[in-house]
Amino acid sequence: MPAYKKVLLKLSGEALMGDDSYGINPGTIDAMVADVAEVVQTGIQLAIVIGGGNIFRGVAGGAAGMDRATADYMGMLATMMNALALQDALRQKGVEARVQSALRMDQVVEPYIRPKAIRHMEEGKVVIFAAGTGNPFFTTDTAAALRGAEMGVEVVLKATKVDGIYTSDPKKDPTATRYDTITFDEAIIKNLQVMDATAFALCRDRKLPIKVFSILKPGALKRVVMGDSEGTLVHV
Ligand code: UDP
Repeated sequence: MPAYKKVLLKLSGEALMGDDSYGINPGTIDAMVADVAEVVQTGIQLAIVIGGGNIFRGVAGGAAGMDRATADYMGMLATMMNALALQDALRQKGVEARVQSALRMDQVVEPYIRPKAIRHMEEGKVVIFAAGTGNPFFTTDTAAALRGAEMGVEVVLKATKVDGIYTSDPKKDPTATRYDTITFDEAIIKNLQVMDATAFALCRDRKLPIKVFSILKPGALKRVVMGDSEGTLVHV
């Protein structure tokens, strides 16, 4: 029996990149979608917020001299490309998926409509939220917290390259150990980076737990939703 009925998965754009330095790696997206398909087949309701950092980040455009808000809109468009790739890959695996975008692109995807998204999830479709929150100066982490709260999920699953939250950076400190669970307050006191500050504050306020786990470990997503020991759970 799965440990959850309804979850939101936050995938960074980089998760689609594999070992490439840019864009979408077909083998990587295929493996990821296979993990998602396995989880959806358990009957769990799942939505995804997809990032765009593998294609464009507003902060990089800003640093290069662009108007930051314009660069952020470009970043949101990057998430749209990833969302379409993800939808296509899921459909090829026989999983019904719908992209809903926070910025209108009516010829291509549905606009974000909360009740419709909830309905899709109830029908077992994977809803992919594109264009983040639809606002510049925010991130897709914040979109994950926001949509997670709106959909009424039990947990936000933050897929990263590291398999949880450590006492210090495990790449630099060989004595670093991983937390199985940690409270929001402990994470603040210990100055541990979980999600960006806005996303973290929203989850804490809504008492919405965050599970940090590695997307690079095969089968990790399934173990997380089955409630097996995996990653770090941040809770109130
Ligand atoms: N972005 C934004 N508002 C949002 C979400 C995203 O302006 O609500 C822009 C921002 O420029 C960001 C880019 O989209 O750099 C890609 O999103 P993000 O960096 O969160 O992607 P990830 O790091 O998860 O791949």
